[in-house]
Amino acid sequence: MRIRKVEAWWVRVPIEERRQHRSDFGRTVTFDAAIVRIETDDGIVGWGEGKNAAGSSGSYGALVHLLNHEIGPRLIGRDPADISPIWEMLYNGVRHEMAATAGHAMPELARRGLTVAAISAVDIALWDILGKSLGQPVWRLLGGRKAERLPAYASGGWADADTIADQLRGYIEAGGFKAVKMRVGAMDGTPHVSAERVRAARAALGPDTDLMVDAHGTYTVAEAKRFCRLVADCDLAWFEEPVIADDKPGMAEVRAASHIPIAAGESEATRFAFRDLAVLKAADILQPDPAFCGGITEAMRIAALASAFNLRFAPHLWAGAPCFFSGLHVCAASPASFIIEFSLGANPMIHDLIEEEVRVTDGMIAIPEKPGLGFTVREDFLRAHAIGGP
Ligand SMILES: [Mg+2]
Repeated sequence: MRIRKVEAWWVRVPIEERRQHRSDFGRTVTFDAAIVRIETDDGIVGWGEGKNAAGSSGSYGALVHLLNHEIGPRLIGRDPADISPIWEMLYNGVRHEMAATAGHAMPELARRGLTVAAISAVDIALWDILGKSLGQPVWRLLGGRKAERLPAYASGGWADADTIADQLRGYIEAGGFKAVKMRVGAMDGTPHVSAERVRAARAALGPDTDLMVDAHGTYTVAEAKRFCRLVADCDLAWFEEPVIADDKPGMAEVRAASHIPIAAGESEATRFAFRDLAVLKAADILQPDPAFCGGITEAMRIAALASAFNLRFAPHLWAGAPCFFSGLHVCAASPASFIIEFSLGANPMIHDLIEEEVRVTDGMIAIPEKPGLGFTVREDFLRAHAIGGP
């Protein structure tokens, strides 16, 4: 089995006005992703996804160019089952043979960002191919699954203090969720406005529903501490990205100052960055995004790090289908996982891009049974919304 063709597209799906929401990322008028299709010489097709922007929308021209014109050509003729050697080849660049012999990394200068997003897309597609070629779901190749269904949490919560109760109750009615996450931070101006919204949410949910908050890294350390004090009696299950990813010592300071568990990692890539989060005691819950951190291969390594440091693992899965399904398989196979992020904003990159229905029932989501990642891309839909491609 050899790789015959690598094609990537910038897929941009408009979101109808009544389903748009506004956060610190602005109004989400589109859902964008870089989607890669890798085909083998025996006709197996694997799908992957790379990401370079938080929120739903973003510019994917450069990432798609990288996949089509720089990384893609290096994969032609390779055995797609060599997933880890291909990862290291792309990460270590011209010194990859030296690195393989020496037994330690010698990465390219471009060792984060677009490069690792592109590696992520390739890695996800290669796991999909391996599963399909063996007739096995990816979780089985990762060592098996710990459950047939895992708990999911409703990820959304942008409404103001007067309407947040209705918004979160709506999520719970739709999927039976036992946990919900709402947005806080710069979109509210000052910490006390966010705190009022959180108190309204807690009052509406009662004590038995887990409530998490996500500041998207928009507080200073001082603001994050103020916010923690203001919501100290709200029993938050986690406080996500209190400060920017580039201030890990600051995040550790917030964690040390509060009893609220800190979650972080959607803005981090590779095991090396997550090692730093763990060593600096900056987070309780590691949240790699499979389409940004380095794919399924790297997400599994990060999950192992979480377990080794007695931390927990809850990947960032606000994403399209290839990334979201990757998260399902990785969580199914990881001892440190405990919950799946399920986006409650409009998400055509899951619900319209693939044929399968993705649903949460009684707060639980099924781990896919089909070979590979377990979804079928509607190629006509993809091509109809591709604004950049090979
Ligand atoms: Mg987040």
